[in-house]
Amino acid sequence: MPISNPERYTVTAALIYANGPIHIGHLAGCYVPADIYVRYLRSSGKEVAFISGTDEHGVPITIRAKKEGLTPQQVVDKYYEQIDASFKSLGISFDVYSRTSKPVHHETSREIFRDLYDKKVFIEETTEQYYDETAQQFLADRYIVGTCPVCANPNAYGDQCERCGSTLSPLELKDPRSTLSGAKPVLKATKNWYLPLDKMQPDIEAYVNGHSEWKTNVFGQCQSWLKDGLKPRAMTRDLDWGIKVPVEDTEGKVLYVWFEAPIGYISATKDWLIQKNGTDEGWQKWWQPAKDASQGETKLVHFIGKDNIVFHCIIFPAMLMAEGNYILADNVPANEFMNLEGDKISTSRNWAVWLHEYLEELPDKQDVLRYVLTANAPETKDSEFTWKDFQTRNNSELVGIYGNFINRAVVLTQKFCEGKVPQRGELQDIDRAALDELAAFPARIAESMENYRFREALSLIMDLARTGNKYLADTQPWHAIKTDPERVNTILNIALQISATLSIVSEPVLPFTSAKIQEQLGLSGKNWQDAGKADLLAAGSPVLEGKLLFEKIEDSVIEKQVQKLHDAKRQNELEGKTVLPVKPEIQYDDFAKMDIRVATILEAENVPKSKKLLKLRIDIGSEQRTVLSGISEHFKAEEVIGQKVLYLANLAPRKMMGMESHGMILMAEDRDGSLAFVQPGKDVWNGGTVN
Ligand SMILES: [Zn+2]
Repeated sequence: MPISNPERYTVTAALIYANGPIHIGHLAGCYVPADIYVRYLRSSGKEVAFISGTDEHGVPITIRAKKEGLTPQQVVDKYYEQIDASFKSLGISFDVYSRTSKPVHHETSREIFRDLYDKKVFIEETTEQYYDETAQQFLADRYIVGTCPVCANPNAYGDQCERCGSTLSPLELKDPRSTLSGAKPVLKATKNWYLPLDKMQPDIEAYVNGHSEWKTNVFGQCQSWLKDGLKPRAMTRDLDWGIKVPVEDTEGKVLYVWFEAPIGYISATKDWLIQKNGTDEGWQKWWQPAKDASQGETKLVHFIGKDNIVFHCIIFPAMLMAEGNYILADNVPANEFMNLEGDKISTSRNWAVWLHEYLEELPDKQDVLRYVLTANAPETKDSEFTWKDFQTRNNSELVGIYGNFINRAVVLTQKFCEGKVPQRGELQDIDRAALDELAAFPARIAESMENYRFREALSLIMDLARTGNKYLADTQPWHAIKTDPERVNTILNIALQISATLSIVSEPVLPFTSAKIQEQLGLSGKNWQDAGKADLLAAGSPVLEGKLLFEKIEDSVIEKQVQKLHDAKRQNELEGKTVLPVKPEIQYDDFAKMDIRVATILEAENVPKSKKLLKLRIDIGSEQRTVLSGISEHFKAEEVIGQKVLYLANLAPRKMMGMESHGMILMAEDRDGSLAFVQPGKDVWNGGTVN
């Protein structure tokens, strides 16, 4: 059963591997919705801890380190800084952004492991694990790839198939190979500690089934794992990068990254308190059940992407249940994936919009990104980001509706009311209707927020802006001013009150914009409880003219971003290109029949009506000849004059475009399809033979 009226909230956002930058898929999947939820809770006066950090262990870190020629520590230091800075710039309002490499995390993880070990929760088992004899290393998780037994993806990892989402063990992979050396691994005995999820299944089932209010995608995925039957899962790994196993004689072993990473939420909470107060005292109230009634209940909510559902809904709760002193997640509102311009977002293929690049290339547009990612969030199914949609939403929604309303209210106040909130006079029906509507919005938006339906919340926020626009269009203060200035005072007072509420209820999604509006209106210290009120702004208080909240985004800006993606795709295609296989064998006589000579291009001109052909006049020593060559997409006529070339002289003449071509110029084709002349290494005389 969900907790209905908690005393406080512990809200976590996924710990991301510190092995690469943040992209819009991460933001839409987890961080933007988490930040909206937390900002809403804070505005509602709730006590919240908003916890996240980087996951700095696990195989992906060591793989990245190898790739970049750095140590794992250098990799995590580099990306932690970058990730932390870009989250801050986007206004993601973590209370703490910690790191799993911190001592407090190592201690907390080892304590919990040791506690479970002492309680004899784990099964100790010696099993055969894959071992790479070339690299002299056991192959945990992502050091091993093979064919997924479920969906036949040829590149499934040892712990998970990213195509179908199945959790796997390396032994289930077909045709396994080592990602270190590419070698076929061998089996070798090693001892590890397993969490007996099979025995714990009834408790886990009771927990999951008690939360039928979870999002359908989350609840459904859990049910499907439970239906398949849970299996024991190793909580230690044969690896040298990570947290040492707190048990004697375990050299060369570390805690499984999915054992310790979620504990990172707990240790990050301690880290937050240490940074704030110098001691972790009081961390328990965020993570443990109330000791007495006065402490009140804590509601734990995990924001994650759909690829992490099993770890947060089954494995982590199972660990905490076995430990016995912890609260379990009340909700895990995982999103589906966001795709990009018709393709899956991929770090390795560089098919992504990177946050740090966005912030640099589109400065001061944090709220535009937050808006677009929320309006199009993959809440119930995969969604798609396109730059065209980004532009349309900015230009027609943020500029055309939201910005337009606030701007009109402020500018008309400047023009007709000396830049001060005017006094409201007698109300007409249309005014009362507008104020009634205004009063109803905050509760409706709050309900969507409480239920993790942020798209719906945003659409209601935009409806409030539309209400404001409609009110101004219906009351037409720009006409009324000529006949009835008193009436204009009432209209603009109401328009400004709507603006004030809009700035409060849109703050979770558009924090930067909200701050700008509140500065213009002189509104401060107001929160969700005040939203909807008709007297948020006192008559006579100044209204400042500000800069436009949003600006139109031109086609050229969008085209540049789309071009960047296409360049990345082209680069990938090149990298994917392989050398053609060698043609079937021939005899020397076959080669000797070809009379290849050195020649010089004397003249060149385009062939009329042909896209490809250049007409070349060449000197082959004994005579001059005319050749039509299909190179005009690669070379301009004037560029080729004077080039020394190799020329197949005894190829039978053929007619092209009504002209006779005699022989053929030899060209080499590069990886990207571009052509180059094949030339002798020194200035050989025309007519020289090639043998
Ligand atoms: Zn699969």
